[in-house]
Amino acid sequence: MSIALQRCINPGCAAEYDVLQTLPKCPKCGNLLDVDYDWDRMRLPDRADRLGRLAAWPSGGPGSVSGVWRFGDLLPFAPADKRVSIGEGRTQLRPSPRTASYVGVGSDCLRLQYEGLNPSGSFKDNGMAGAFTHANLVGARVAACASTGNTSASLAAFASASGLMRAIIFIGDGKIAYGKLSQALDYGAATLLVKGDFDDAMARVQEVCAEEGIYLVNSVNPFRLEGQKTTMYRVLEGLDWRLPDWIVCPGGNLGNSSAFGKALYELYDHGLIAKLPRLAVVNSAGAPTLSRLVNQKGLKWNGGRVDDAVISSYYAGLDARGEKARTLASAIEINRPVNLKKCLRALERANGVVLEATDQEILDAKAWIARDGLGCEPASAASVAGAKILVERGVIDKDSLVIAILTGHQLKDPHATVAYHSYAEDKLRADYGEFGVASSRFANRPMPVANSLGDIIDAIRGIS
Ligand SMILES: *Cc1c(COP(=O)(O)O)cnc(C)c1O
Ligand SMILES: [Zn+2]
Repeated sequence: MSIALQRCINPGCAAEYDVLQTLPKCPKCGNLLDVDYDWDRMRLPDRADRLGRLAAWPSGGPGSVSGVWRFGDLLPFAPADKRVSIGEGRTQLRPSPRTASYVGVGSDCLRLQYEGLNPSGSFKDNGMAGAFTHANLVGARVAACASTGNTSASLAAFASASGLMRAIIFIGDGKIAYGKLSQALDYGAATLLVKGDFDDAMARVQEVCAEEGIYLVNSVNPFRLEGQKTTMYRVLEGLDWRLPDWIVCPGGNLGNSSAFGKALYELYDHGLIAKLPRLAVVNSAGAPTLSRLVNQKGLKWNGGRVDDAVISSYYAGLDARGEKARTLASAIEINRPVNLKKCLRALERANGVVLEATDQEILDAKAWIARDGLGCEPASAASVAGAKILVERGVIDKDSLVIAILTGHQLKDPHATVAYHSYAEDKLRADYGEFGVASSRFANRPMPVANSLGDIIDAIRGIS
């Protein structure tokens, strides 16, 4: 075996393909592909000194400013001179005592992994470093994606910064936050506003890429998930290689949760960590496919024998009722998650749970996250909202060490934030009632004042 190959995730098929092939799914059975490695030939830290060495792994070259490629030894599918980076993954694990009190755990028991610090403002840059490196390896000239916004922002940034490829993005018409659209346009990506929602755009881009031989960078691309594994390495590094009890993240297309699971069980299977943290994936209640399938229909990975009939009957039900994903957390407004099976596998390996948070719970959580000085977009706050629910249910213990992933930056989608803090409740209900948002308990209200010294001083004295 060469050091890296692609393998079908369906154990009944397990077909293998060279890393130089570009395949959106297994040609034999239609399932997703994984990147796998010959771990015996990898440069791994020595067992006696494993975690310390892992921490001291950063290497030079173009990867030296990359929080992805300094862990390149754990994703060795391309030679170092093919690696593409725009300085992604220089992110932080931050203490969050106020958010911890809101969630209901000890003040030092919750840390927020702030992936909004990526160059294009979301974790998608971690994955795009992987996908672009593979695209570079196979000599692709045009790359495309469907996006709720952040994948397109990241693709557009990588395309213009690297100069390696042209970018084409497919967006559900009217379904993108302005901050994200502004990035795609400004970075010069060809931008198609497809009539329909994300699920429609995703279906079309896969057809177009197959037809036109365009390189697809959505998270069906297994090389993207390799890049996204590195968030977990940075979390462990941020904890000085202590193991957390829980990783909590939002679930949209389920690429991140799948990649986190893979990162952790690879380290575990190869003796680099001593136990597996548990995984919690949080859907928005307005886009609850994973949660409904797992919690109501009992869908499981089941050693790779996933019951496809359960999935197709669920989707047929959505179609019959004309049900579309609908949530303020636009980055997770997805009803047909492409990485569903990989996520089921991660949940099985990491003893995971799935739950739903309402948009009200998401916006309330977001206001607390910001009190710790961290600005995130609504979808990111689903992780904290979910952690709070799991503490209330007694699933997460109050003294567990919990890591919540903040997937995207606050400035991606400032509209809902300003509405939450400044709208009177009747206007909030009028504009956001359809998402079930009716109050803003934790609002920091702006204060209108007359242009007068006396009035301004009165207002200031009122707050102090
Ligand atoms: C893409 C995205 C998500 C969803 O991640 P998946 O890997 O698709 O589950 C969540 N939050 C933000 C900010 C995103 O951009
Ligand atoms: Zn297969």
